[in-house]
Amino acid sequence: MGRLLGIDIGGTKVAWALADRSGSVEARGRRPLDPSGDGEQDLDRIVADVEGLLERAGVATDTIDAIGVSAPSPQDPDAGLVLGPPNLPGWAQVAVRARLGAAFGRPVFLENDANAAALAEWRFGAGRGRSDLVYLTMSTGVGAGIIAGGRLVQGRAGGAGEVGHAPVEHPGEPCACGLRGCLEAYVGGAAWTKRLRRTAPATGRVAALAGGSQAITPVHVVAAAQEGDAFACAELERFNEYLARALVGLVFTLAPEVIVLGTIASAAGERLCFAPLREKVRQRAWERLARDLEIVPAALGEQTADLAGVCVALHGLVGDGGGAS
Ligand SMILES: [Zn+2]
Repeated sequence: MGRLLGIDIGGTKVAWALADRSGSVEARGRRPLDPSGDGEQDLDRIVADVEGLLERAGVATDTIDAIGVSAPSPQDPDAGLVLGPPNLPGWAQVAVRARLGAAFGRPVFLENDANAAALAEWRFGAGRGRSDLVYLTMSTGVGAGIIAGGRLVQGRAGGAGEVGHAPVEHPGEPCACGLRGCLEAYVGGAAWTKRLRRTAPATGRVAALAGGSQAITPVHVVAAAQEGDAFACAELERFNEYLARALVGLVFTLAPEVIVLGTIASAAGERLCFAPLREKVRQRAWERLARDLEIVPAALGEQTADLAGVCVALHGLVGDGGGAS
């Protein structure tokens, strides 16, 4: 059985990895990405980087079964286009599939980053062996990948899983998307950081840990809350409250076996996030839906960058059921 090539295009970096179907990585690389750069030029550089990787590893392209690309939304997955994600404005209409297909002569599959990370957690991480799971990215923004009945839910034009923009308050805080009250406006890293810099006491513990109000990020809130700082604890309570509202909606809509939470929630950990979150969800959802529900941190961490694209390639080749092993 051949190899899989995964390419993970993020807002600030690109990672690429060569792996087998068991997720064992044979070679990898990454480089920073200037989010204001030109998408076509960035893609040319990615092609050159991957060519270099294959050459150094002594790997011929015809031993690669498929190429999988994880990239931000919006995109046209059928046409293989990235369509100007807010965090990559220079990628306005970039034909990822056509360019990589022409360069390497292998099948290319494209998936949005949340779906790609959900596939990775399903296949190799916290959702291994399950057939119903929801994965929330919880980084700068909030995206979701949904596996229901053992299938990746893609929705019309690949638009399913925009849980970050489902309202948790009305009318609520303004969101970067133009709407108000979106989950992302409360628990997204960018929105939360903006709020923290505005509201954290200038002489408080959070600002002290950050070295000044304008350097505060959610990392400093988590650290201050671990020390018992009242402002930080209240901020985490607010984070958990809004997240719980969204999770309850997901529980009633999808009845998942497991909800996997990414970066910020994972960093906050069991005591500050997962335990209070489980309790809120348990109180607000029917017992038969909440009883065996697991709400857990993502298991892959930094490995996601290697495995997300690889899992997109695998999913493209074998379809759903890739998570069953
Ligand atoms: Zn929004």
